[in-house]
Amino acid sequence: MRLLMIGAPGAGKGTQAVRVAEHFGVTHISSGDLLRDHVRRETNIGRNAKEYIERGDLVPDGVVLDMLRKPVVAANEAGGYVLDGFPRTVAQAEVAYGTARDLGVSVQVACYLDVDRDTLISRMLARARGVEDTREVIERRLDVYNEQTVPLIEYYRERERLVTVGGDSPIEQVTWSLLVQIDLARKAIDKRSAAGTL
Ligand code: AMP
Repeated sequence: MRLLMIGAPGAGKGTQAVRVAEHFGVTHISSGDLLRDHVRRETNIGRNAKEYIERGDLVPDGVVLDMLRKPVVAANEAGGYVLDGFPRTVAQAEVAYGTARDLGVSVQVACYLDVDRDTLISRMLARARGVEDTREVIERRLDVYNEQTVPLIEYYRERERLVTVGGDSPIEQVTWSLLVQIDLARKAIDKRSAAGTL
């Protein structure tokens, strides 16, 4: 099972990605967590990423792609993955697709968690984790999300890979809706692939 999670900062995509990964017994890969870990350990990747994260901007594609190649391939060998926070742009999705298709590790279903902006801002202010979560940086992250990540939703919809779930409900209910939708999407994809239309 190979999935990815799209959602604004504060939409709960991390929480849901963990729960969905547990359900399917696959690896949860969070690009944000990996980047923060590199920053903490002061690796080369961390040094390159730090200022972008602190501003609320996206880290350059090359840095993120290099960082993710190994964990994605390893997770695939171990049964699959739920990618959380990657891809973040259509450009990342296209580069990743080219590489992943050749390796047989491309995404099967993209899950979009839909939450309105006011809820997002209050959730993020409530859980503030540090320099990334001042009001200014939160607003910047939401603008970056709207400009750069929202087009991804259409990208996966056009490819008939998208499931959309409202993220305002209680955590368990959101997970349940996601699992139902993922199951339906998988069946539809299997059908298309059996019919040779995929
Ligand atoms: P997240 O925890 O997913 O919200 O990510 C935290 C921060 O890490 C983001 O605001 C970006 O600066 C950076 N980041 C995470 N994933 C990516 C990605 N796929 N591409 C570029 N930057 C990323």
